[in-house]
Amino acid sequence: MQFNARLNCDGCNALEHINRDIIIKKASELMRSGATMLAESCPLCGSPLFKLVSGEVVCPVHGRVMLVKSEEELSEANVASVLIELEKSIASKLGDYISKIRSGKEVEFEDLRGIISWLDALERVERIKTILSREKMQEKRKTKPSRKTAD
Ligand SMILES: [Zn+2]
Repeated sequence: MQFNARLNCDGCNALEHINRDIIIKKASELMRSGATMLAESCPLCGSPLFKLVSGEVVCPVHGRVMLVKSEEELSEANVASVLIELEKSIASKLGDYISKIRSGKEVEFEDLRGIISWLDALERVERIKTILSREKMQEKRKTKPSRKTAD
């Protein structure tokens, strides 16, 4: 995005002024595309957030944002992303062992211990993920009582 300092009027911060123009322009574009304005604002720039038809939440300045309602939700989101990262690292570690085995090098006892430890770690990650998603589903059931009568 480019800012040009043409709108340099007295008594106001030029950059802020231009920013606001861009925000208004982007916001009206979003509205035209069917997006709805939310009560929440972007934590980075304070612009109102918009919900797209697709359900995605976007800031007119920053684009897509992840909306969390509370500190608890924020830490949940952090935990979830850490778990995903861990899963990836573990998978790549296990991949190293696979290439060693494939390369025809002798598999040592230490390697086996390594594989078992990493698989153990992976199992724990999976277990935590299952527990967390189960908790989340129970919470949802608690906070949204009987909206659905079927199933
Ligand atoms: Zn923003």
